[in-house]
Amino acid sequence: MANLGASQRTLKDDILCPMEENLTCPKCGSPLSEVTETPTGKKLRRCSQGSWNTETKQIEGCDYVLWLKDEPKELDEKCPKCGAQLILQTTRFGKKMKKCSNSGWDKETKTATGCDFVEWINGTTEELDEPCPKCGNKLVIYTSASGKRMEKCSTSGWDREKKEATGCTYIKWL
Ligand SMILES: [Zn+2]
Ligand SMILES: [Zn+2]
Ligand SMILES: [Zn+2]
Repeated sequence: MANLGASQRTLKDDILCPMEENLTCPKCGSPLSEVTETPTGKKLRRCSQGSWNTETKQIEGCDYVLWLKDEPKELDEKCPKCGAQLILQTTRFGKKMKKCSNSGWDKETKTATGCDFVEWINGTTEELDEPCPKCGNKLVIYTSASGKRMEKCSTSGWDREKKEATGCTYIKWL
């Protein structure tokens, strides 16, 4: 066990201030690298001792990743039920939904309070750091409007004229 010395921080600090500059990796004690953003707008910080090798498609070194929580975004739209402002939220899996800013959660009675308006935003895809087992291209996670999730190959598509699937056919329902 390495001596982490003065740079060691408590886990609580990490959770409270994930954007803070000098966080250290809970796995190896090295500093975390800068905040980076995925193409789908998710923010993360990797351990500075870890890097993604695009040739071997594996993480080299330390594989710790700190995902940063998405702050709900206020939308320029009004709730059709009560007229309050809507907010846009993204779940951990890249699913997006609009919900009413008037809604809440009563921890004691375990019931939703306020306005219950929620609108899921259709079909989101999220890029994965994993290769397709069939062709080696990148995988994506597709989330349908009804919340079903599947892993599929980024080269797959749909030919509207011929009405047939194109590209790689790899699909795995989650
Ligand atoms: Zn590390
Ligand atoms: Zn509402
Ligand atoms: Zn594929």
